[in-house]
Amino acid sequence: MTDATPLKLFNSLTRQLETFEPVHPGEARVYSCGPTVYNYPHIGNMRAYVFADVLGRVLSFKGYKLSHVINITDVGHLTDDADAGEDKMEKMAAKEAKSIWAIAEHYTEAYWADIKALNIRQPMEWSVATKYVPAMIAFAEKIADKHCYELDSGLYFDVASVADYGRLARAHTEEGEGRIEAVEGKRNAADFAIWRKTPAGETRQMEWDSPWGRGAPGWHLECSVMSGQLLGFPFDIHTGGIDHREIHHPNEIAQNQAFCCSGGLDVPGNSGAKLWMHNNFLVERSGKMSKSSGEFLRLQLLIDKGYHPLAYRLMCLQAQYRSELEFSWEGLGAALTRLKRLVMAVEQLRARLNDEGGSVIEGAEPGPKFAPLREAFAAAVSDDLGTPIALTQLEAVVALKKVDLGQKLAVIAQMDSVLGLNLLALTRAELRLKPKAATITEAEIDEVLAARRQARADKDFARSDALRDALAARGVEAMDGDPLGWDWKLEA
Ligand code: AMP
Ligand code: ZN
Repeated sequence: MTDATPLKLFNSLTRQLETFEPVHPGEARVYSCGPTVYNYPHIGNMRAYVFADVLGRVLSFKGYKLSHVINITDVGHLTDDADAGEDKMEKMAAKEAKSIWAIAEHYTEAYWADIKALNIRQPMEWSVATKYVPAMIAFAEKIADKHCYELDSGLYFDVASVADYGRLARAHTEEGEGRIEAVEGKRNAADFAIWRKTPAGETRQMEWDSPWGRGAPGWHLECSVMSGQLLGFPFDIHTGGIDHREIHHPNEIAQNQAFCCSGGLDVPGNSGAKLWMHNNFLVERSGKMSKSSGEFLRLQLLIDKGYHPLAYRLMCLQAQYRSELEFSWEGLGAALTRLKRLVMAVEQLRARLNDEGGSVIEGAEPGPKFAPLREAFAAAVSDDLGTPIALTQLEAVVALKKVDLGQKLAVIAQMDSVLGLNLLALTRAELRLKPKAATITEAEIDEVLAARRQARADKDFARSDALRDALAARGVEAMDGDPLGWDWKLEA
């Protein structure tokens, strides 16, 4: 089923909900700013890709042929989004005493592991910045005369040379002044580097020859070049975290304008992408999520503490992407329980269907009882990716009584193709809390629990209690009669 409800998406450029109208009929072309692979992503970063994934899944659900590109930044991103600070990759390579290439490879692999664990679909292309440096130089050559000027430190983009600079950020050029470290000779405070020359007497691990001397591209350039080359200007949607609304994306837009039209931003598409979408932040109670201070919240930490990674995905879906989301371990635990309820219900449905010898009939039109829930689901996701409401519609389908089981599973599968919780494959056992630090294996626990069940069947309550105490001594709580069927849990 595809559905005909118009898809409304919030465009940060106009600060309005807009009906999605593809540039190329029947297609959706989406570019997402990817990670800078100098460190592990934190779970806040991963929220940006869960959001982009849901967007892509909704576009597929709506029947569009999706072309999605996510870039891997392995060059050029400074410790400050403006032109101050050190190159993040060079800095980490020096700290870990490794080559930049080794750093990039290690952290790209780690990022991809998180992508997989969160059931994020593979994009059409992972575009790697260093592979596009010649294309970046060609792009810069095309805009240099009319829009750039050269200083000792590099080639800079003159933001006054394009109409409406900074509209996305709702910031006037001069307002950037406080945030941007002055570079001697800049015409406007918000001007940014297109090419950063290697200072005389220095060598960088990553540097290339260019008409402006040996050096490296400015960070903003790569996304303009890769999105334009792989998706064609204008393409449909550009995504990123809300921090990119302030500097990175206004700068990309200015470059795109310079490259293709020099026109103002009242014309949709002059910005390179028709829609610019931004996910809000995942925050900790103590404030902004960080890789360097406090507990480094990596997905692997959640897994090590025993939480299935899809519980985190569900936690993200429980909030609309434009709302701030506060992370807490209690919240994650609640999301895990909610996921487990769904998985248990689906497991039971599959077992019953199997017993009845029925099967899931893909493509068949489900009966009338499903119609209002399917419509409400489609309306929710079509309303700027309303995943919190969509989840409740999915749960309502799961709770439906006296309906054909095959049809029910087919509807659940279809809804899950949008939400991506892997409901038809996950098992209850996979969702148990399994902290890495636990000193007892699941097989051992199951063995003791089986012995305990036998003792109770034999009415040997002393033995049953002794077995329970033995488990407790190893940090395992037997959960008799737990309505969710957890059987046991470990202290996280
Ligand atoms: P970076 O690797 O720093 O370029 O960030 C990767 C993506 O994560 C970008 O789209 C950021 O905007 C986004 N991002 C960074 N911090 C957070 C956060 N706490 N919550 C949600 N998204 C974030
Ligand atoms: Zn980008």
